[in-house]
Amino acid sequence: MADISQHLAALALEQENSRQRIEHLIMFDPLTGLPNRNSLHDYLDQPRANAEHWAPVLFLINVDHFYDVIDSHGYAEAEHALLKVVNRICNRLRPGQFLSRTDSTKFVLVSDDNNVDSIIQQAEELRAAVALPVQVNDAEIALSLSIGISHEAGKHRDYLLSTAHYAMDYIRKTGGNGWQFFNQEMNRKATERQQMSAALKRAITDNRLRLVYQPQILADSGALYGFEALLRWNDPVHGEVPPSRFIPLAEEVGEIENIGQWVFREACRQLAEWNSMSLAIPTISVNLSALHFRSNQLPDQVSHALEAFAIKGEQIIVEITESMMMEQNEEIIGRIQRLRDMGVGLSIDDFGTGFSGLSKLVTLPVTEIKIDRSFVAQSLKEERIRFLLESITRIGQSFNLNVVAEGVENKEQLQLLRKLRCPVIQGYFYSKPLPADQIPEWYRAVLPGYADLSGE
Ligand code: C2E
Ligand code: MG
Ligand code: MG
Repeated sequence: MADISQHLAALALEQENSRQRIEHLIMFDPLTGLPNRNSLHDYLDQPRANAEHWAPVLFLINVDHFYDVIDSHGYAEAEHALLKVVNRICNRLRPGQFLSRTDSTKFVLVSDDNNVDSIIQQAEELRAAVALPVQVNDAEIALSLSIGISHEAGKHRDYLLSTAHYAMDYIRKTGGNGWQFFNQEMNRKATERQQMSAALKRAITDNRLRLVYQPQILADSGALYGFEALLRWNDPVHGEVPPSRFIPLAEEVGEIENIGQWVFREACRQLAEWNSMSLAIPTISVNLSALHFRSNQLPDQVSHALEAFAIKGEQIIVEITESMMMEQNEEIIGRIQRLRDMGVGLSIDDFGTGFSGLSKLVTLPVTEIKIDRSFVAQSLKEERIRFLLESITRIGQSFNLNVVAEGVENKEQLQLLRKLRCPVIQGYFYSKPLPADQIPEWYRAVLPGYADLSGE
C-alpha cells in the first residue's frame, strides 16, 4: 500500500510539474523568461477597480536589424546579444511597469505613468541604453531600438497595440534607433520640446541669454534696496521664450547648472561694471534652481565669481523658490551654509505658496522672504489675504528677516503694504525689469523721483 501511494504521489507531483511547465510555456517566453503575448493580453484585459480612468502607455520596442545579426554572427551569438539587450531594458524599468516579449524581436512595455515628459525620458533612456554595442564572446554587436509609443485614454488593447506598432514601424523604416509617438498632439509636443532643448543648448553656448534687472525699493524712503536679475532668452526661431517655460526645460535636460553659473557670474560682472561707473547698487538678487544645490560645485562656482569680479558676498542674494526647498539633506544645507559664510544672502522666493511651513525659517540660514505676487494681487479684495500679508511681515520682523513684496502694480497696493510695514517693494508700479544698459539712466533720472512718492 505504502509503495503504491508513494508512486501515486510521485506521479501527481510530476503531473503538477508538467502542468506548471506547460502553463509557463503558455504565458512566458522561454528564451528571456519574460511574459509573452498571451500574458500581455491578459494583463491589458484584466478587470481594474479604476478601469475608466486607466490610461496605459504602450511602448512597442523592436530590436532593429536582428536578422542581419543572425546572418553574420549565427543564432547562438545573436540570442546572447538579445539577452544582453533585454537586460539593459529591464534595468531601465520603473516600479509597476510590465514588460513582455511578443515576437522574436518585439517587446511591449506597459506603463501607468502618462506624463509626457517622463514617457519621453524613458523612451530616450531605453534608446540610449541599447545604442552602445554589446560584447558577445569576441564580437562587438551593435543593436538599436525602434520604439513606437501609443497613449490615448479610453482606447482598447488592440487599438493601442496597432497604433504603437504603426509608430514603431515608421521609425524602423526611417533607419531605426529612435522613438515616435502615435498620438499627433503628443508627437507635436515631443518634437517641439526636442527642438526647444536643442535651441536652448545653442543659446547657452552662443552666449545669447540676457539678464534684465528689476529694482526693489525701500518702502519708507523710496531709496534703492537692490535689483533682482531675471533671465531672458530671445531665440531667432522661437522668439521670446518666457523663463516659466525654459527654466523647467533646462532643469529637465540637465542645463540648469550651466545656466545658474552663467547667471551668477553675469550678475557679478554687471555689478562690478556699475560699481566702476559709481552707481551705488547695494545688492543684486539672483534666482538659482534648487537642483543647482545638488551640485557640489556650487560653492566654488560662487566664490570664484565673487573673486573674479571683486564683489563682496553681502552684495549678492540668492533666491530659491519655496516649493523647491522641500528637498533638504545635510549636503544641501552644508552648501547653503557655505554661501552664507561668504556673506551671500538667502531669500525664499514665492513665500507662502510652497507649503513648507515655517520650519524652513528655523532650519535654513534664511535672510529674506519674498511675498508671492499672487497674494499682493488679491490683497485689496480679500481681507484674509491682507491678514496673511500682515502675518508674513510680522514673521519677518520676529525672525529678523528682510521682507520683499513682489508684483506691486498700483498705488493702492503700495499704500497697503506700507501700512503693514513691509520694508521692500518690487513690481511694475516702480519699474518693469530693465535691460542693463538702461539702468544708469534710470538710476540718475527716475530713481530720485521715488523718494517723493514715499511720504504720501
Ligand atoms: P520670480 O523670481 O518670482 O520673479 C518675479 C517674476 O514676476 C518675474 O517674471 C517678473 O518679471 C514678474 N513681475 C515683477 N513685477 C511684476 C508685477 O508688478 N506684475 C506682474 N504681473 N509680474 C511682475 P519672469 O521674469 O517672467 O520670471 C518668472 C520666474 O522665472 C521667476 O519668478 C523665477 O522663478 C524664474 N526665473 C527668472 N530668471 C531666472 C534665473 O535666472 N534662474 C532661475 N533658476 N529662475 C529664473
Ligand atoms: Mg525671484
Ligand atoms: Mg517670486
